[in-house]
Amino acid sequence: MILGTYVLYILCLIMESVMNYLDDHLNTAIEDVIRLCRYATVAAKEQDIVETADVVKGMLDELGLETTLHETSGAPVITAWMDNGADRTLLFYDHYDVQPAEPFDLWDSPPFEPEIRDGRIYGRGTCDNKGDFVSRVWAVKAFLKTNTDIPVNIKFIVEGEEEIGSPNLHEFIEKNKEFVKADAGIWEFGASDANGIQEAWLGLKGLLYVQLEVEKLSHDAHSSYACILPSAPYRLVDALMSLRRPDGNISIDGFYEDVQPLSEKDEEAISKIDLSEEKIKDFYGIFEFVNGLSGSQLKQAFYNAPTCNICGITTGYQEEGSKTVLPAKASAKIDFRLVVNQDPDDLIRKLRAHLDEFGFKDVEIAWSEGYPAARTPVDHPFVEVVQKANREIYGHDITIHPTNPGSGPLYLFDEYVPMVSIGVADFYSRAHAPNESILVENFHLGMKRMAAIMNEMKDW
Ligand SMILES: [Zn+2]
Repeated sequence: MILGTYVLYILCLIMESVMNYLDDHLNTAIEDVIRLCRYATVAAKEQDIVETADVVKGMLDELGLETTLHETSGAPVITAWMDNGADRTLLFYDHYDVQPAEPFDLWDSPPFEPEIRDGRIYGRGTCDNKGDFVSRVWAVKAFLKTNTDIPVNIKFIVEGEEEIGSPNLHEFIEKNKEFVKADAGIWEFGASDANGIQEAWLGLKGLLYVQLEVEKLSHDAHSSYACILPSAPYRLVDALMSLRRPDGNISIDGFYEDVQPLSEKDEEAISKIDLSEEKIKDFYGIFEFVNGLSGSQLKQAFYNAPTCNICGITTGYQEEGSKTVLPAKASAKIDFRLVVNQDPDDLIRKLRAHLDEFGFKDVEIAWSEGYPAARTPVDHPFVEVVQKANREIYGHDITIHPTNPGSGPLYLFDEYVPMVSIGVADFYSRAHAPNESILVENFHLGMKRMAAIMNEMKDW
């Protein structure tokens, strides 16, 4: 008993030096976030990819990990590996690319010139996901610099095309299946909620993204001809209207066929969750959610409802003043968020069949991409490891969400490693939007929580 207490005391002292290191070097860690966010690594425009990949590899090299830059058909994937002779292996999945920063004029400071204001670091990529990546690097660094044994083996996979749907990650994973295997993994993002409570996401919805196009004329016409010429924008709008009922339910035949109800354990997990309904309404400036949803119905929609969303419509004249024109073409970008068991290939066939059946053979699916949803079970032991570490550092229970309503290539990892998604963002981080930022305090504690997770994994 006395020996046990002594061992515990020594272990606490060891972790104390790791945690002290992270306290003492917070500013240097923040400099790393700023350095990485200065690169405009916009995957959609293939910007700064090679340069950023180099910096990422350099940060991992500096830790003394065995790093490799894997060329793919697109942006390179960087891996890093440290065999500490431990029983368990922890894998980090991150990405070094970011979303486009437009519209630039809505930023209070330039998106790629990160700066700290009122305790927050502002800049594109701070929360999604360069800040997270740096926090993980520093958690590992704190063990190494204090000569503390890392109780787990470490693996990093950092890709550069997450924000465009990871089109080449499957190629990397296909060739590197052994590397992807680990006892547990930390997914790229995570945040605290509107009340400052940390959140863990155990899954991601799938995605089907399509571009619909209609072309009715060989070239734009004077709008006076609208009395005799067909309208591409109206065809598109009519086709879009046919996809979804006013209540948001998707009208495509068989769209919900494979949707499964949430399990009892999922239901139990979500019953404990406070979705902060009023704060979400405040944040988005709305008085009510779609269809007046609230309480358990709102949660059912949040965790287990697929969506059909118009991301943008392009046609005709939108500049200042008027231009009387009958546009020849119209196009729309649509995303469908998918839940577990829905197959994007099957749904694209159903979408085509729907358009044909409703008389929209002239509406072309110009391109599409997609992937299925994936999830780690709520009762997986790693979830408890994350919970313990969170309590140690943040002093409160992390909220366990069975899935996130967003999407990502989690399905590629599903059979090799159970993933939990946590990170250094917060409710006000504005991922993908102007004025993206993270709280310095969350970044600081996020590094420490990651170190605590590594430490807790030894007892699992
Ligand atoms: Zn993102």
